[in-house]
Amino acid sequence: MNARVIQVAVPRPLHAVYDYALPPQMPLPEVGARVRVPFGRSAAVGVCVATDVDSSHAKLKQVTELLDVSAVVPAELMALAHWMSGYYHHPLGEVLATMLPAAARKGADCAIDTPDFWMTTTACFDNPRAHAQQALFDYIAQHQPCAGDALVDAGHKRQTLRNLHKAGAVAPCTPTPGNPSEIPPPPTSAQQQAITTITRDLEGFHAYLLEGVTGSGKTEVYLRAIEPVLAAGGQVLVLVPEIALTPQTLGRFQRRFGAVGMLHSNLTDHERLQTWLKCAAGELSILIGTRSAVFTPFQQLGLIVVDEEHDASYKQQEGLRYSARDLATKRAQSHDIPIVLGSATPSLESLYNVDRQRYVKLPLPFRAGDAQMPTYHLIDMRGQQHTDGISVPLERVIRSHLNNNGQVLVFLNRRGYAPSLLCAACGWMATCSDCDARLTLHQSPRQLVCHHCSLRFEIPQACEACGQQSLIPVGLGTQRSEQGLSALFPEVPVYRIDRDTTRSSRRLEEQFAKINSGDRCIMVGTQMLAKGHHFPNVTLVAVLNADAGFLSPDFRAPERTAQLIVQVAGRAGRAQRPGEVWIQSYQPDNPNLRKLIDEGYPGFAAAELANRVSAAMPPAKPMAMLRAESADAPTALDLLQQFKQQLLKPQSQGIELLGPVPAPLARIANRYRYQLMLLASSRSQLHRSLSQLKPPRLPRHLRWSIDVDPYDSL
Ligand code: ADP
Ligand code: ZN
Ligand code: ZN
Repeated sequence: MNARVIQVAVPRPLHAVYDYALPPQMPLPEVGARVRVPFGRSAAVGVCVATDVDSSHAKLKQVTELLDVSAVVPAELMALAHWMSGYYHHPLGEVLATMLPAAARKGADCAIDTPDFWMTTTACFDNPRAHAQQALFDYIAQHQPCAGDALVDAGHKRQTLRNLHKAGAVAPCTPTPGNPSEIPPPPTSAQQQAITTITRDLEGFHAYLLEGVTGSGKTEVYLRAIEPVLAAGGQVLVLVPEIALTPQTLGRFQRRFGAVGMLHSNLTDHERLQTWLKCAAGELSILIGTRSAVFTPFQQLGLIVVDEEHDASYKQQEGLRYSARDLATKRAQSHDIPIVLGSATPSLESLYNVDRQRYVKLPLPFRAGDAQMPTYHLIDMRGQQHTDGISVPLERVIRSHLNNNGQVLVFLNRRGYAPSLLCAACGWMATCSDCDARLTLHQSPRQLVCHHCSLRFEIPQACEACGQQSLIPVGLGTQRSEQGLSALFPEVPVYRIDRDTTRSSRRLEEQFAKINSGDRCIMVGTQMLAKGHHFPNVTLVAVLNADAGFLSPDFRAPERTAQLIVQVAGRAGRAQRPGEVWIQSYQPDNPNLRKLIDEGYPGFAAAELANRVSAAMPPAKPMAMLRAESADAPTALDLLQQFKQQLLKPQSQGIELLGPVPAPLARIANRYRYQLMLLASSRSQLHRSLSQLKPPRLPRHLRWSIDVDPYDSL
């Protein structure tokens, strides 16, 4: 046995672990430490996954550099990495690379920065010849602790600071957290019940589904449940959807607890790494973050919260296709701590877990404070006159809300002016050159845009098929509704909020400031309006085209559409004034829509879950999706056919294969896309089958992936 050989996981597809020899003087790293190793013709940063390896290999390559001696990936996360590699059928090295913050993955030094906050160490500083130092000392004495940058902003020099530090008059310090400043409201009885249940046993794994209607005060429950965990010296991880990590959310936690760490995509790599390290060292008690924050190491994790647990952004849709919600539950299990999953519209997965008594449901059926739930109304669009999608009855309702000084929110989940440009003479439609998709007409700037590959085209003068000048926009996008609303209600401002108008976050903040001033206005926008924001003066929510979502071929489309409608409806009447929700539909008898309106989300969800169970679909049966895409169609199709043959081996009893078929969007950016759906009778059967896959030698332009528990099938 050779004690100087270690096993290293490198971020490469397929075979991901390799043996390397340690050079004679190099200390032995811990499992979970990073090393730099030669790999192929280049070098790679890998993670040591085993030491004392018994290698029969004669000529092993040597580790070039030891980046850490002790583990940066603690044992708990190493175990999670191994589990994920098996569960998602993904190479261990790539799993570990996904878990590490980008800076650490690239080999950056994993040390916490010395704090750049300064305090005086003596009562006075007397050096009549050093004016600058004297002034700086006096400034720090008055404002301490002072951030170094703030001192520079106040006109002092870094060099002066260094001199004062050398003279021993000031020293760096860790800043004291901002003082909590909020007096919490007394909990409602439903909130109190939830809080009591969650905090009853903080030293065992329990999963709670906090099902609270919009505005019921779920956040207040999180905040109260966090208190005793912090008091006992524990740390708390709070996961939020990408779009919901607003300054508003963060502000609420800061006002209650002072210092809060934050991880989201707008930070620099260095900032992300620092936050990660501080959590690992136990220096931060609360971390709020989006999806990848689930991989943060902690000293003493005591509670996990997953807010809006149904949200799609918890599922990574490329590379390692993990679900942060599911991994959060896994981590709570291994730490033996409670986890709270909160939502007004829980995923069917979580509701299924409640049915099977794996999760405990904590309902918050009423809104907190004085706010009432909004009432629902349906407008049958068949045969209705309308102005750019606004029917006459809806126009009347909008007018009456505006006359009562209410604000109106109009929801339409499609940006642009019109989703297609059609020739009225021959039926030709403008399509993307690189995708099998129609082009969306945009009005500002005027162009045709492909929403799949982002290509832009000039708007043709005449039909490209028959040459007639008879092109007409068909269907409804937010730009068109904006135009219609402005024409119908010229006296009130109309604010459009979608991905095209929110590129500038300053402009968005300005719009929100105007909206929150409370004056009458109309907002029209996509799902960006549905999440996170609190509009206290909105009394009417209108859903223009409820049908589109329910008709999508994706198996999750009804669930997702119902969640979206309920979330956007939840923006109505959140303060003193009661709200109304009006839904336009060409299919007012659509059973999904009817259920949702008549029985609310719980009724809809129960029926939809029953559908999934009887159709043997997730969450009742586990699913995996194999996808392949390539520059030509046969290559991708052929690979999936080979996979199908491998999966059809005799031990594949209990496996159902659907496909391979072209993906509903069969070509995007000139790549042909195919999919093969796999349904299994049990988890173990699913994993046994997937383990049989042996990808053949592949041409470079072919890409394929395994998606376990896929979020969508498009
Ligand atoms: P949710 O997250 O369930 O949508 P929030 O936590 O944002 O709800 O609460 C909605 C509103 O109700 C907030 O303005 C919050 O301050 C208020 N609120 C929450 N709990 C209470 C309470 N117990 N008493 C009074 N107001 C409350
Ligand atoms: Zn034509
Ligand atoms: Zn395209």
